Amino acid sequence: MNFVINDQELLKTTVETVREAVLITDSRQAHPGPAILYANHAFLDLTGYTAEELLGQTPALLEGEEADGGVMQTLRQRLSAGSVGEVLEGEAVNYRKDGRPFRMEWTIRPFPAEGEPRYFIASLRDVSAIRNLEQQRQQLQTLAEIQTRVSTAGLDLQALRDRVADIARAVTGADGAAIEEPEDSEMVYTATSGRVAGSPGIRLPISGSLSGLCYRQGESIYCRDTHEDTRVARDAADQVGFRSGFLVPLVHQEHCFGVLKVYSGRPHAFNEGDLQLLNMASHVLASSLSDARLFKGERDRRSLLVDSLPIMISYVDNQLRYVEINVAYNRWYNLPTEQLVGRRVAEVMGQEAFESNRPYMLSALAGERVTFENRYTHPDGTVTPVEVDYTPVRNAQGDVQGFFSMVRDISDLKRAEQDYLTGAFNRQGFDDRLAISCATARRYSRPLSLIFLDLDHFKSINDNHGHAVGDDVLRGVAKTLQNEVRDSDIVSRWGGEEFAILTPETSLQDALALAERLRQALYEHPYAAVGRISASFGVAAFDPEEAERDFVRRVDEALYKAKVGGRHQVQQAGPLSH
Ligand code: GH3
Ligand code: MG
Ligand code: MG
Repeated sequence: MNFVINDQELLKTTVETVREAVLITDSRQAHPGPAILYANHAFLDLTGYTAEELLGQTPALLEGEEADGGVMQTLRQRLSAGSVGEVLEGEAVNYRKDGRPFRMEWTIRPFPAEGEPRYFIASLRDVSAIRNLEQQRQQLQTLAEIQTRVSTAGLDLQALRDRVADIARAVTGADGAAIEEPEDSEMVYTATSGRVAGSPGIRLPISGSLSGLCYRQGESIYCRDTHEDTRVARDAADQVGFRSGFLVPLVHQEHCFGVLKVYSGRPHAFNEGDLQLLNMASHVLASSLSDARLFKGERDRRSLLVDSLPIMISYVDNQLRYVEINVAYNRWYNLPTEQLVGRRVAEVMGQEAFESNRPYMLSALAGERVTFENRYTHPDGTVTPVEVDYTPVRNAQGDVQGFFSMVRDISDLKRAEQDYLTGAFNRQGFDDRLAISCATARRYSRPLSLIFLDLDHFKSINDNHGHAVGDDVLRGVAKTLQNEVRDSDIVSRWGGEEFAILTPETSLQDALALAERLRQALYEHPYAAVGRISASFGVAAFDPEEAERDFVRRVDEALYKAKVGGRHQVQQAGPLSH
């Protein structure tokens, strides 16, 4: 359908009232280009100029610093290429009279459409708002991606630093990125990406460097061109190829702990959007880095604590491999961590030691907490008594994943419980074991017996042969006893020339038989200087109803009975006399 309106006023009013900005120029191509003949109200609103200010001017006056190529340039190119009759379209940043930029979408139509144009009709739309929205949406999306990427990086501080530098470089399209953190009076590159990758450890003084300034002020800095910025340490910048760059402080909970820097080998390489994005992202990045720093600090402190303990601490997985060890392991095996972690326990401790620990390890993997004593034989043959403790570690589903192992050298403890003369347990050691044995026998209704023995007429040995010979005999007696009993029996020197033998899992009958065997063994082991010796024995079985003290007294009474009954004999204990 065709309208025919001949009312010029009507058409002019229409153009005046539409919301789209309209500009009409002549078609002059020579410098300074087409002159403005008409601008509608919407155009004056958009640009802030008055009609008088525009009349006769070229539209190039709207172009400025960031005008990418410019409308005029495109127009001239098209005109000189002879494509005069075409409608031109594009988008550009233009500037209002007050200097504020806006993003403009434009269409330029020659008039008349056929033949040599006499006018250009330009219609312009301000798309700043929509482009801003688009940019914001893009930024939010990028931020969300950044958040995902840092939150899946875990808490390994160095890995996170590297990732943060990579992210910053990627989202800004920079040539290089670095994280710098203060150390004493210097800023130190702790992570690098892109152009400087592989050269972390660069140091610059805090005062006198751009990153130092950013760190001290806690504010972002955009350096458009290092060759024109007096704040820049030019040599250092040139060295890493830094011509323009953007620095943001890494601030978390009002504490600045470093600077994130992106930079380019070109001047003016970053735009407002890049800066905004990095500023926003820096909060996410800083909080993740801060968490990782805290975590590392805590872990370092814990390692320090764990390493300072004179205990071997390790985590062993359910394949019986060392996953973590403390420094005590390095010392014990004289091997670096890399040669211990990941290796099988059997391989590290040797097959023999492994076999003696294995049943307990299997118990721990079955979910039981176990404590036991063991002896470790060093390559030079010396033996260290150790106390071992395994604590199972379960995952969220309750399955045992491995166990913590703690191995303590208990030489000192052993010495404190050992009789210096004979090497048997002393009275203290005996008392401790008596208490544990009685409690176990009572709780699980297991048999437990006790044998006391006192050497007969020992005083005369001292009197006739001297104290040193007496000592030799005592040492010999302890050895004989130790040889005759089971490993689980506890031989102790109760005092003077009296010995006590605690026999777990042993009935009265068996204990009497053992005492009889001991009596004979001692008698049949003559001493060169002294000849035969004999001893008197008292034996009792533990009654779970009785106090430990009474148990001991009953055995003592049986021993007394053996003495008065003529010595060199075994007597069985009766009920306690009153
Ligand atoms: P019996 O038990 O048969 O009644 O006579 P006995 O001579 O053994 O009796 P008694 O218990 O009176 O004497 C114990 C002696 O053991 C006294 C002490 O000289 C000796 N004795 C105690 N401790 C030690 C020691 O550590 N070394 C030596 N050489 N002798 C010790
Ligand atoms: Mg005695
Ligand atoms: Mg005696």
